[in-house]
Amino acid sequence: DDLRNDQLDAWDRENMFHPSTHLAQHARGESASRIVKSGSGVHIEDRDGNRLLDGFAGLYCVNVGYGRTEIADAIAEQARELAYYHAYVGHGTEASITLSKMVLDRAPAGMSKVYFGLGGSDANETNIKLIWYYNNILGRPQKKKIISRWRGYHGSGLMTGSLTGLELFHKKFDLPLDTVIHTEAPYFFRREDISMDEAAFTAHCAARLEELIAREGADTIAAMVAEPILGTGGIVPPPAGYWEAIQKVLEKHDILLVADEVVTGFGRLGTMMGSDHYGIRPDLITIAKGLTSAYAPLSGSIVGDKMWKVLEQGTDENGAIGHGWTYSAHPIGAAAGVANLKLIDSLGLVENAGTVGRYLREGLTDALGGHRNVGEVRGDGMLAAVELVEDREARRFYDPAGKVAPKVVAAMLSRGVIARAMPQGDILGFAPPLCLTREEADTIVSAARDAVAEVLG
Ligand code: PLP
Repeated sequence: DDLRNDQLDAWDRENMFHPSTHLAQHARGESASRIVKSGSGVHIEDRDGNRLLDGFAGLYCVNVGYGRTEIADAIAEQARELAYYHAYVGHGTEASITLSKMVLDRAPAGMSKVYFGLGGSDANETNIKLIWYYNNILGRPQKKKIISRWRGYHGSGLMTGSLTGLELFHKKFDLPLDTVIHTEAPYFFRREDISMDEAAFTAHCAARLEELIAREGADTIAAMVAEPILGTGGIVPPPAGYWEAIQKVLEKHDILLVADEVVTGFGRLGTMMGSDHYGIRPDLITIAKGLTSAYAPLSGSIVGDKMWKVLEQGTDENGAIGHGWTYSAHPIGAAAGVANLKLIDSLGLVENAGTVGRYLREGLTDALGGHRNVGEVRGDGMLAAVELVEDREARRFYDPAGKVAPKVVAAMLSRGVIARAMPQGDILGFAPPLCLTREEADTIVSAARDAVAEVLG
């Protein structure tokens, strides 16, 4: 604590390799940095004494808000009693067993078991391995390709970075791997054919999926991985009827569905799970972020009944499943998860996400919906986006080089509010903690309105 900020800043630039950062600019000291010190409720505080309203809940993960002593105490108690034991060959702890029960109690119908990992990326890696194993046990080793959507985000590992449908995560990394194929993003606002209404666009997305399956051969395709609502790709709710139409296609071709609920799981959309919110019937569900509200790293792969039966058959035929991390079901993560899910219930945060989330979107719409450079205000639950456009009538988008959204986000920051410039397109993203109040929503809205006026007039 005696260290001076300039010393820490220098060490940071000398020693630390930051994720998703312009490495050269950071090392040269050309880009902004922040040393975050503490957090309470929806606010964080940095070492320069700035107090900021975190309108993105970290990376849409601190769902219960910062500084919850119930979770901190649970972590400390677990660390004192048993910081670690592995979960291999049937070992458990009270925390991991309790959490598995709590997760299954909150999962949609038809889910059987949960495998615990560390983060969303590794949970999705697990899912793909389980899908391949499943099809091998069923004697169809050629059925292995995985479909995801352009603009989907599923992590940044080798497989999960391939599933991710954003250019930045592929470029110069030799991704995507060729077992991954992408289909149309269900992004109504950016549809190519402006004459399509929502129903026609949904039919178009389903038809594009059919075409892809026909081109590749259904017998070569194992699964589709998708977020209930596009998150990092722009916070884009699906067009009406989308999930019903897509699931019809997948079921026809015996293609499994993985619902990546890393963002939507545990309340973000105003329902416990996003699958229930949109009528999705997944075979696997990916969970992370909201599982512990990021108080400790923990993720999960929830396996549906249909796959589970085959996994059991597989181990009867082949012996123990050859998959596991040292930190699978880590007791400290599990203890954080139990305390977090209890808090979500006792504070009524799922309901609050729905009501205050709607209030926030309405506020953004009132403040910005009429601005000539705002193409659309959209979202669902406690997720909102404002898409900035150069010309609203002509639907002309900005040249990314102009960095319009990052400039607006910087102008919001100078007003004490954190929003996120989404990585592809000039889109302001909002995903505050689920405990946001109406007054705090008002603060976000007025910062957004004033920042847009400052940057765009
Ligand atoms: N899936 C989704 C939908 C995500 O939004 C993210 C992260 O933002 C991930 C997976 C990857 O999770 P992690 O960053 O914990 O590996």
